[in-house]
Amino acid sequence: MNVLLVYAHPEPRSLNGSLKDFAIERLERAGHAVQVSDLYAMKWKPALDADDDTARQPGARFDPSLDSRKALENGTQSADIAHEQDKLRWADAVILQFPLWWFSMPAILKGWMERVYACGFAYGVGEHSDTHWGDRYGEGTLAGKRAMLMVTAGGWASHYGPRGINGPIDDILFPIQHGILYYPGFDVLPPHVIYRTSRIDEAGFSNVRDALGTAPVPFRRQNAGDYIIPELTLRRDLAPGQSGFGVHVSWG
Ligand code: FAD
Repeated sequence: MNVLLVYAHPEPRSLNGSLKDFAIERLERAGHAVQVSDLYAMKWKPALDADDDTARQPGARFDPSLDSRKALENGTQSADIAHEQDKLRWADAVILQFPLWWFSMPAILKGWMERVYACGFAYGVGEHSDTHWGDRYGEGTLAGKRAMLMVTAGGWASHYGPRGINGPIDDILFPIQHGILYYPGFDVLPPHVIYRTSRIDEAGFSNVRDALGTAPVPFRRQNAGDYIIPELTLRRDLAPGQSGFGVHVSWG
């Protein structure tokens, strides 16, 4: 299997740096081909802006969506964006590895998503009409590939439990797992979250394992009949009386 590890931590000697090296070694030993996008080491440009289309006319009004589609279609995207898209096409599985910073991913990784996920590549794909709102949530360019989050957090597991003060970890990661990974088609594997990082010792460190064989989170597919078209709200007979992120997962 081809595995792309997208890694966001500024310090190679950090816990995350060690976890990254360990994951690469484990994956390669298991026979997988691994590519790494080490965003800080690459000095990844995080800001999506007009320079992302190399053919843009000076002074022209910049439209983040339309200009990214144009650059993708015309082959005039900035080379760093095109290179990362090629890695995504190559990969069978993608791991996003990062420390939880302010309940989300570090800005450099968010900037990777914003720029690499061009219009026509990760969104704006497929028919858009009153009866079909694009190929997304279970369909799309990255359908058939798997993705997983590997996240470290300073807080305790209980802080992220069902009644924990920080909110449930599945809710906190929902915008990434559902909005960023499932949206363009990935099957999303359950996240590997390492809590209470200040207390991790070498024994805890060695517990990291390759979870790529786990069954995906059963997010509901947009175009498989669970949602009312074109409102795109969940059918009333599914998860009746419930709301929140959890209704978009079908455990039945
Ligand atoms: P490090 O600080 O590098 O290491 C953690 C511990 O692991 C150290 O004690 C280290 O000695 C030990 N360790 C054990 N084995 C090894 C090894 N082999 N190699 C290296 N280290 C090892 N936390 C939250 O829960 N929620 C938040 O919203 C949140 N927001 C944050 C925002 C910011 C801006 C910052 C800076 C931190 C935030 N944190 C938050 C805490 C953050 O998630 C943790 O600091 C981070 O996950 C720790 O990962 P690290 O790789 O930086 O660990």
